[in-house]
Amino acid sequence: MVDLEACHAIIVRDGSVMTADGRLVELAPGHQPAAMLRIYLGVDRGRDLVALVPEDPAFGSDPDGIGGERLRGLRDLLAGFWDRGPDGERDHELATTAIAIANWHAAHPRCSLCGEPTVPAMGGWVRRCDQDGRDHYPRTDPAIIVAITDDEDRLLLAHAAHWSPRRFSHLAGYVEPGETLEQAVHREVAEEAGLTLTGVEYLGSQPWPFPASVMVGFRARALTTEIAVDGVEISEARFVSRDDVAGLVRDGEMVLAPKGSIARRMLEDWFGGELPEPHARGPVDV
Ligand SMILES: [Zn+2]
Repeated sequence: MVDLEACHAIIVRDGSVMTADGRLVELAPGHQPAAMLRIYLGVDRGRDLVALVPEDPAFGSDPDGIGGERLRGLRDLLAGFWDRGPDGERDHELATTAIAIANWHAAHPRCSLCGEPTVPAMGGWVRRCDQDGRDHYPRTDPAIIVAITDDEDRLLLAHAAHWSPRRFSHLAGYVEPGETLEQAVHREVAEEAGLTLTGVEYLGSQPWPFPASVMVGFRARALTTEIAVDGVEISEARFVSRDDVAGLVRDGEMVLAPKGSIARRMLEDWFGGELPEPHARGPVDV
């Protein structure tokens, strides 16, 4: 069994990881803050690595920390990871795993059967109930995301009611118990936009630890173009051409999913290449 206190550590807390210049910071044994929790991540570059959740809730929040190190949210880091190629991919994977499992620990302090407190075991990949000896394992909730096109190969882009004003993306939703992934695609799209689909095809997937999902990406064609948004989850949805999207993004009228996300890959797969960057007009609200 690996001694978790002798491992190199990346720092994770509340959906954020410690970075400097967009790179994951690794702290050597003896240079780490007091830990509330250590989670074994495996062997990386020949060294045992853990995700460390600091005891001090303020650790890493100082923007003037030594060497510019501070905790940053995964959404903010995605584009930078993406731009760095395989090295960034490795940071992305480690950060996603660390955040996903730290989220799970934070949300499952007690046994779901008897209500007694549970304690981390097996390198942080199990929580054990001392009362009844039951082991509890990390959860991942599947969600579908679907790129829908019409007869003219225009793409459906939707705005969710709780998003910031100019943000648009594909329809998405959680898979319900007893449902296949394909059934979830048909149900979500019927519920949120009133559309009937055909030709549902799997595209790929991405872990999405907000708080504990894996996004499963599909594409599909709409048999109808009469959109009826539910008005609750989705407040607006429309089919847009490639020219429309390019113009709206350039003018800052539409903010799309960040680089490095599956939603962005699905967009660019349909678009046929990289989407244009917005004209500089101050910080974009995402
Ligand atoms: Zn129990």
